[in-house]
Formats: sequence, C-alpha cells, structure tokens
Amino acid sequence: MVTTDYRWTDRAYDLLEAQELTVKPHNEDTAPCFVVSGRCPRCDHHLVDRQVTVALTGMAGASRGSNGDPQEAVVLDVTCGCGTAHQDAPTGVTGCGVSFRIELTAE
Ligand SMILES: [Zn+2]
Ligand SMILES: [Zn+2]
Repeated sequence: MVTTDYRWTDRAYDLLEAQELTVKPHNEDTAPCFVVSGRCPRCDHHLVDRQVTVALTGMAGASRGSNGDPQEAVVLDVTCGCGTAHQDAPTGVTGCGVSFRIELTAE
C-alpha cells in the first residue's frame, strides 16, 4: 500500500487553507520546532505531530521575496499519529501510516 503520495500533500494543503490543520511554532531550548495539529488528510482523525525543523534557505527554485533575497522555506514531513488503530496501517505506527509534506514559506 502506498501511503506516501502527492495527493495527501495536496489534501493537507487544502486542510491548511481551511484551517482544519494548523502549524504552530514551538520553541524548544535546542531547536525551533513546529507542532502540526488537526485533521489527518487521509483518515480524518485528529493528529498531533511535533516536528523539529531545518530551515532551508535559498533552495534551488525557491521563490524570492520582494527584496530579491531567497525566501526561507521550512519543510515538514508529517506522519499520521492519530493514535487510532488502523487495520491497513504498517506495523509500529500509531496512525494510518500516511506521510505528507507541509511547506511553509516565511512571510
Ligand atoms: Zn491518518
Ligand atoms: Zn486515523
């Protein structure tokens, strides 16, 4: 079963737009991280995923800000951890097993 599929990323984007999925910055002592919470794009259960991130600056093909500097983008690879047992999920995961990507661009 394929759980890493662009359509989940696409669906996650829609959920973000609809505010059904939120990403909140959360500063740990060591590294900045983000807490992703809301509806799983695949199983619709509530998931919370804490992501330690690396900010990627000046990636190839990254959009540029109005001042010409490369914009900072943060990429989060989220795995569903809804905590509900799914019969078709890979063993050892706490959710349906879907992985999707959220890309944030610094304002
Ligand atoms: Zn799920
Ligand atoms: Zn689920």
